[in-house]
Amino acid sequence: MRPRGVAVLVAVVAVVGGCSSRPEARQEPPAPVSAAATTTTATTTTAPPTAVPGPGGTTIPVFQQPYAFGTPQRQAPPIVDGMVPVVRRIETDRPYVFITVDDGAVRHPAAAELMRKSGVEPSLFLNSKHVDGYAEYWKGFDGLAPVHAHTATHPDLTGTPYEFQRQEICGNAELLRTRLGARPKLFRPPFGNFDLTTRRAAADCGFTALVMWTAAVNDGVVQFQAGARLNAGDIVLMHFRHTFVEDFLAFLERCKADGLTPVVLDDFLADPKATV
Ligand SMILES: [Zn+2]
Repeated sequence: MRPRGVAVLVAVVAVVGGCSSRPEARQEPPAPVSAAATTTTATTTTAPPTAVPGPGGTTIPVFQQPYAFGTPQRQAPPIVDGMVPVVRRIETDRPYVFITVDDGAVRHPAAAELMRKSGVEPSLFLNSKHVDGYAEYWKGFDGLAPVHAHTATHPDLTGTPYEFQRQEICGNAELLRTRLGARPKLFRPPFGNFDLTTRRAAADCGFTALVMWTAAVNDGVVQFQAGARLNAGDIVLMHFRHTFVEDFLAFLERCKADGLTPVVLDDFLADPKATV
């Protein structure tokens, strides 16, 4: 069940000849047509590909955007008593699932390619220590994956003083803004550990929500909190590791198997204060 129905694109493809009719393709003057040099054109009906070749002989499942990514679909829950809401999953009646990638310890060379080719745009939760000095790599995700905050140095925040937490969270937000150009709106605490002070500090640092997860990918295997499949609204956690290709592909294949489409978390946690 696709929200918009399956958009079957009918394309007429000129298979042979190489001379396209694209206006920007400047061609040399046509060669004299000889009887022997026949140009054949085949007409084929195609739908969007469901998979394309990936790095290292892999196959990348491809997803179509069910709505225009970047368009807010839902607002984040409100800030109450000066504390950001804790979001563990997204309430949705659509077959949507959400992928997040944390830390940034391994700057995997195939990560951006996998995102671009699959049509899937994860939300990245990055530490300052993995971005500072490596901004050029992370700028490569511009338009592919929005960047969010995960503290400066990845400490366990629970029980630590407000000033320490504020420094870790605000400092991370400010570094991401100066290095990558946009101040993040979502925050994920390291190890998923937080207390009320964390939620207060995150609100004071301008965040809209604290984001947890309901499933994870490790060593190329999707692990569920409950049951044996992904469900609509799940937020999936993975990391920038050497196994990035295996992990990302395992997630994509799981989505296909479970009839789910990965969409952009940010679109379902839009800032309620932002005027549209
Ligand atoms: Zn982490």
